[in-house]
Amino acid sequence: MANFRSAGRRHFLCASLGLGGALLSPRVLGKSLPELLPSAGARRVLIVGGGWGGLSAARRLRLLAPQLDVVLIEREAAFRSLPLSNKWLVGRTDDALPPQDYARTAQAFGYRVIRAEVTAIDREQRRVHTAQETLGYDWLILAAGIDYDYAPWLGDDARAIEATRRLYPAGFMADELDALKRKLAAFKGGELLMTVPPGPSRCPSAPYERAVMIAWWLKTRGIKGRLVLVDAGGGMQRFNRIFAERYRDQVLHLTHAAVKSLDPFRKVLVTEFDELKFDDAIIIAPQQANALVRQAGLSEPAANGKPGAWAAFDPLHLHAIGDERVFLIGDLLGRVSPLFGPYPKSAHLACHLGRIAAAEIAARAQGKPPPPQLPESVCHVYTDAEPMEMLRIDASYRRRGDGLIAQTVRQHEDPQPRGEDVQWARSLHAEMLAF
Ligand SMILES: Cc1cc2nc3c(=O)[nH]c(=O)nc-3n(C[C@H](O)[C@H](O)[C@H](O)COP(=O)(O)OP(=O)(O)OC[C@H]3O[C@@H](n4cnc5c(N)ncnc54)[C@H](O)[C@@H]3O)c2cc1C
Repeated sequence: MANFRSAGRRHFLCASLGLGGALLSPRVLGKSLPELLPSAGARRVLIVGGGWGGLSAARRLRLLAPQLDVVLIEREAAFRSLPLSNKWLVGRTDDALPPQDYARTAQAFGYRVIRAEVTAIDREQRRVHTAQETLGYDWLILAAGIDYDYAPWLGDDARAIEATRRLYPAGFMADELDALKRKLAAFKGGELLMTVPPGPSRCPSAPYERAVMIAWWLKTRGIKGRLVLVDAGGGMQRFNRIFAERYRDQVLHLTHAAVKSLDPFRKVLVTEFDELKFDDAIIIAPQQANALVRQAGLSEPAANGKPGAWAAFDPLHLHAIGDERVFLIGDLLGRVSPLFGPYPKSAHLACHLGRIAAAEIAARAQGKPPPPQLPESVCHVYTDAEPMEMLRIDASYRRRGDGLIAQTVRQHEDPQPRGEDVQWARSLHAEMLAF
């Protein structure tokens, strides 16, 4: 039921796409709605989205700029972690990170949190709208993450989109995790299909890590089933080898298989080469920035003149192009540099961007020049479940002499991991969530 409701909410937001990214008029935005939180006198930073980026920005702003009024708006009651979720889905970890109550965190750190779904941003009036109220800001941090883009596979068929989200949850948004875990627990055999979408997408190695976990789980439980991995790309070399050598009976990996269409009712997925019938599925759809990016006119321009899929932003200071009152952080960001494209869509990086946006706003509030900072990314990926094997992918950034941002990526193989990923998650959670 919870998933059904959120699918409906997202569909409403997606409906604003038809506006072509232009700002909604104040009348349409509901200018006459009551002000939810009257100003406390202090200048206000409003943060939309309490994921890794938004929570980290809120915490850091409290430390750097105690004179500012910090308000976080989040539609869920509790934070949940996607990192570590693949192990948790198949019961391979005792270190499940339980949901963390936003109200408790906000109280511990001294900012305010409002549980509400933001429906529109009015940059002209510097106001944010929910269904019932409006809220003014001096600075806005948009940290609302991603949305799925089902259009390439399902067109604009709202019934098919709703059914796909409800019946075949991807587990790429935190509110889908419980439904996905129940699905796996109920799987008794047959063809379980999982799609790997074309990029850019959230944590691109996560579908392969999940495939290994599911393969191990099918094998060790003796389930007469197979994971059919329908991959838009060529896979990751290391995982391709592991699927072929260790999980030949459990994984059929179809590479360069672009999805043409999906029928969630007949359980058929059509690629350029095959028509695949499935018994159950995990549909990870193509991704785009949260719909608020398009509604607020913050998208990158696309070649066809329509708004692009991701947010345009100043790569050095993180503010919107032409609007230094709005900062953009986390997975919703588009291209950073012509040298490598977007930042990796990782929690670690979203957290760092939250800290940087907080430092930018704190400096501006004090009339000082913002400190130049670039983020870093760390990602722990399990490449096998028993014995556990791990890959750590680090990315660092520097500014070249010509002003462009350059990326360096390093991979470390760890054949005997000792819970480094859990330590990593716990230290960031301690910073963001006060536990
Ligand atoms: C399976 C999996 C494994 C992963 N493993 C790793 C890993 O090991 N390491 C790593 O670094 N990263 C990992 N990631 C990636 C990581 O989860 C994301 O990069 C991270 O969540 C991005 O943070 P964010 O703040 O941009 O978005 P999110 O964390 O998605 O936060 C966005 C928040 O905005 C809220 N929101 C959205 N719209 C609205 C609205 N209209 N009104 C109010 N609130 C709204 C949402 O409810 C959500 O809480 C993994 C991802 C997946 C799917």
